[in-house]
Amino acid sequence: MHCNICNGTEFRNYRGRKSELCANCGSKARHRVALDVYERFLFPMASDGARLLHMAPERCLNPILKEKFGDGYIATDASPRRYPHASPKKLVLPDDFDAFPAGHFDAIVHNHVLEHIPGHWKDHLAGLFRWLKPGGMMIFSVLGPYKGNPTVEGGEQLASDAERIERFGLKDHLKMFGDDFAPFLRDMKGAKLLDDGVSDERRAEISVRPGKAPFFVWRKDAA
Ligand SMILES: [Zn+2]
Repeated sequence: MHCNICNGTEFRNYRGRKSELCANCGSKARHRVALDVYERFLFPMASDGARLLHMAPERCLNPILKEKFGDGYIATDASPRRYPHASPKKLVLPDDFDAFPAGHFDAIVHNHVLEHIPGHWKDHLAGLFRWLKPGGMMIFSVLGPYKGNPTVEGGEQLASDAERIERFGLKDHLKMFGDDFAPFLRDMKGAKLLDDGVSDERRAEISVRPGKAPFFVWRKDAA
């Protein structure tokens, strides 16, 4: 078992999740699965002039993506000071969906970001979809999705952080994705949902429990 980000071999439990955290680089399971998926789908897109948007630019992934995409790498976050290693541009969604023109990015990546955006998740997917070039790809993960439940949103309308924690797990979680999320992506016109290609055998190699940290690889149809 090793960390595919830093080659570390020591893992720590985190919030009840066994061997979730790499003791060396601090990556969580979703970051290690992310790199595996990026190697398969994203890095082949990193040609001269290709633009990548990395939202909420995690410390363990930021240098790797920046190196691959060079000047085409753009990091953003609603709270840039949370990511001092990446100097992200401030981007508050959904207000800033006009910050980039349509078809601006070859690829967009984000992990556990959508559950923090107020408003309707289908509108957010539409805004991100618009930013992608034809043939462009969005690779991402969300909280859950939770089997046996429909997607629930509206956390921004709850009266207190305590209520949000009770409903959605964290004070800044505004929704919880359920069974309807993947089918919506699969059926959306103009895009295809691809298999992330990460087997449970591969998960075991990189200290990820079976089936955990599922990824969405969503490709906008070529023009
Ligand atoms: Zn590591």
